[in-house]
Order: sequence, then C-alpha cells, then structure tokens
Amino acid sequence: MVHFVGAGPGAPDLITQRGAAFLQAADCIIYAGSLVNPALLGLAKPGCAIYNSAEMTLEQVLDVMHRMENAGKTTVRLHTGDPCLYGAIREQMDALDADGICYDDTPGVSSFCGAAAALNAEYTLPTVSQTVIITRMEGRTPVPERERLASLAAHGATMVIFLSIGLIDKVQTALLQGAYSPDTPAAVVYKASWPEEKIVRCTVGSLAESTRAAGITKTALIVVGDFLGKQYERSKLYDPAFTTEFRKGDPV
Ligand code: SAH
Repeated sequence: MVHFVGAGPGAPDLITQRGAAFLQAADCIIYAGSLVNPALLGLAKPGCAIYNSAEMTLEQVLDVMHRMENAGKTTVRLHTGDPCLYGAIREQMDALDADGICYDDTPGVSSFCGAAAALNAEYTLPTVSQTVIITRMEGRTPVPERERLASLAAHGATMVIFLSIGLIDKVQTALLQGAYSPDTPAAVVYKASWPEEKIVRCTVGSLAESTRAAGITKTALIVVGDFLGKQYERSKLYDPAFTTEFRKGDPV
C-alpha cells in the first residue's frame, strides 16, 4: 500500500493527524526533499527506509514503491503542501493502477493557504473578489496558451502564482497587461510557516523591484489583488438583518 500524504507548507505541526499517523507507521518514506521540512522525518519509526525524491526520477520512485509492495511493506509518498497542486501525483497513481498497487491520498495544507495565514488575509472578500486563480508562469514546464498569465489577469480576481518567483519581471509585465494597475496591492510570501518566513507587501508596479530588494529567489508565492487593500463589504452571513437557516434576521 502507498499513502500519498500532503506535508503542509513547512511547519511540521501543520501536517494532518492522519498524515502524521501514516508517517509513524511507514516502512518507507519517499519525501520531496526540495520543499518538505526534514523535521517530519523525525516521526519515522526506527528502521524506516527514507528516500529523497529530489534526487530521483519517476522510474526510481516507482521502483522503490514496487520493491516495498512486493515485500508487503507500506510506503508514504510525502509531498509538499497538498499533493493535488503541482505534485506530479497523477503519473505515479496511473503507474500504480497499471501494476495493481493500492494507494490513497491524504490532503495537506497547501502553501497558498499558508501564505494567506502569514498575511492574515482572506482571499475572497465580498465585492472585492469571490474567485482565487491558482496558476504559474510558463517556464521549462509549458502552460496552455489559453491560460497565459496576462489573460487570467484580465479578470482582476485574487491570484496566487506558484513556481514563478524566478520570473518576477515577466510576472509583473503580464499582470499589468491584465486588469491590475501599478497600484494594485501584491505580496510575496517566502517559505510560509517556516522559521525563515519572509513577507514582502508591495504593489503590482513594484513587485519585481521589491522581490529583488528582499533577495527572494525561490520557494515563494506571489499573491495579487485588492483583497490586500482596505475596501470591502461585510459578509451577509453575519449581518444582523440577514436570515439564514440557522438564525432569524432582525431588520433594522
Ligand atoms: N503542492 C505544493 C506546491 C508544490 S510546487 C502546495 O500545495 O503548496 C512548489 C511551489 O510551491 C514553490 O515554488 C512555491 O511557489 C510554492 N511553495 C511551496 N511551499 C511554500 C511555502 N512554504 N511558502 C511559499 N511558497 C511555497
């Protein structure tokens, strides 16, 4: 059996209880060493085989899973954040399906949630934005033409941009080709929830310059939108005049 587990954004106590229990019981852990906090490996039982997938190919990862399965052992495949975002889990799952190896998936706290927490921010503010666009700039990994950053930016919604901090100048240009103005608030969150976390609050117009000034070159998210500004409306849900299934409104 293989358990895919989301490790969370960095702080070891942000893994789920289920994920931690799988780690404690595992005979083998294959962890994404470029981003997963190695402190989590402290949960492994004595004798647990540990592999860093940052140094491995898909074939090598699958080979370890096969060997463990054949020996009747349990493997945890530990991915950063939540495995469903940029986790390359599908190709592993398809290969396991083809070989009849059972697996399941335990969610984790994605870094886009870790970044919002670091900023004490709500991505979905009434009248400001009710949409979060999660995307990336194309780099060595292509992005479909219809998902070009500039066209997604045309919505002016809240955007969270992964894997793109090294292309910050291009990101800034693309955002300005969309609905954002140079004054639209933005932020860069480096290593959300790690002790070395850094937050840079800026505007779209100063995004590249501010990122460079902070010396941030990797492991960061770029978040953009008026949710970082001051204007918004109160929620209907907690409005005294609003009736819901659970509470009778009191019109004033
Ligand atoms: N599955 C992961 C994302 C993996 S892609 C998740 O759900 O978060 C790797 C990218 O995620 C990094 O390049 C960076 O953009 C972002 N990232 C991962 N951990 C981060 C953290 N703690 N703080 C800020 N960005 C992070």
